Amino acid sequence: MKSTYDMLVIGAGPAGAFAAKTAAEKGLSVLMVEKRPAPGAPVRCAEGVGKELLREFMKPDERWVAAEIERAHLIAPDGFRMEMNPEKAGSEVGYVLHRKVFDRELVWQAAAAGSDIMVKTRACSPVMENGVVKGALLEYNGTVTEVRAGVTIAADGVESKFARWCGVNTTVPLREMETCAQYLMTGSDIDPHATEFFAGNDVAPGGYVWIFPKGEKTANVGIGIGGDRGGKPGIRPIDYLNRFVKQHFPNGKTIELIAGGVSICKPLESTVADGLMIVGDAARVSDPLTGGGIYNALYTGKTAGEVAVDSLAKGDVSRKALMKYDETWRASYMGKALERNYQIKEVFVKLTDDDLNSIIHSVAKMNMSEFNTLSLIKNIITANPKVAMKLGKAGLKSLIDSI
Ligand SMILES: Cc1cc2nc3c(=O)[nH]c(=O)nc-3n(C[C@H](O)[C@H](O)[C@H](O)COP(=O)(O)OP(=O)(O)OC[C@H]3O[C@@H](n4cnc5c(N)ncnc54)[C@H](O)[C@@H]3O)c2cc1C
Repeated sequence: MKSTYDMLVIGAGPAGAFAAKTAAEKGLSVLMVEKRPAPGAPVRCAEGVGKELLREFMKPDERWVAAEIERAHLIAPDGFRMEMNPEKAGSEVGYVLHRKVFDRELVWQAAAAGSDIMVKTRACSPVMENGVVKGALLEYNGTVTEVRAGVTIAADGVESKFARWCGVNTTVPLREMETCAQYLMTGSDIDPHATEFFAGNDVAPGGYVWIFPKGEKTANVGIGIGGDRGGKPGIRPIDYLNRFVKQHFPNGKTIELIAGGVSICKPLESTVADGLMIVGDAARVSDPLTGGGIYNALYTGKTAGEVAVDSLAKGDVSRKALMKYDETWRASYMGKALERNYQIKEVFVKLTDDDLNSIIHSVAKMNMSEFNTLSLIKNIITANPKVAMKLGKAGLKSLIDSI
């Protein structure tokens, strides 16, 4: 390991790996550090990603595609099933990945592009000079080393501390930190090409239960609920999940259990500081409605890598120069979707089971040639004036503005 690099990346998830790969391919010297012994494990993800979205970055590979999804089912609290088939689901169909393999592949690609990688190496403090981030102190095997860098990327995920240490406000309100539990289950009959989503306040208050197949008879079965909803025994995510599994997978066998958090808040007010860019979950860019963050991590990682190259070439890594990164992702399709889905999520978490039933029944009746989030929202509002009322004037306006 050298003591000086053009770019230092903290965290080797999809966001960090893509930032490292992008910058190294363009000739920057890059070091990426990962506190875990191996990237991608343990998996804290349901591993679903949109087909078209993923293809923006890489060609799907059978080594890390566990299942191809052709349709989705949304199950209302009253048990009514709405099917979203390819004609209706449009861009929403996707893949379920093997993240253990996928994340390693991304790190391999970063290494192949020329980036140095250190695992079991934890950034424990930023190096700062006159308010400018100049690298980090890295702890490996009980020894702390200073590494200096022209630009530092905080890609340290949902539990991110690095940006906070640099003075950025990264607080997530408790109610906007979805708490999750997930089993990898086998031995049950599932449709290997369909995802299922169960909504309802008895099933998953302020969230949903998902079933994401990973091949024949195997699936990620998980739940996310609002962070302010389930602190006590009996109403924790794992309690809801156990009740769900008992009912729907009486013969299923659990081969893995994970727990984790997903932020469903607005993105950070600013994702840059002098010498620093914040990417992926650390920037709070996971989708507030779905909790999906793989694509957003790849997109912000890539954009940050590109801006690092430009800024270093111009010799200017001030907050003002790095704002190009912040402005680019906010103006993108992803940035706009985050804004819109935040507004929808704010309504979703307030819906009663009757509201949910009425929305899902009405959507099922709609004959939409193009089925995507946008057309879905428009139709829901038209068919369910009560929901429009819940949004209120201000909510409706910001939702329409974001569309
Ligand atoms: C239960 C659950 C289900 C999910 N399901 C989906 C889904 O189906 N689809 C989807 O798109 N998204 C899903 N997500 C979200 C998705 O997993 C994340 O959005 C995605 O992993 C974000 O990538 P990232 O690179 O920003 O962060 P991460 O993948 O979290 O990577 C951050 C890395 O930084 C490392 N790190 C942290 N601190 C330090 C430090 N100080 N020094 C060095 N390294 C450090 C961590 O060990 C980690 O490897 C889910 C999340 C959860 C919790």
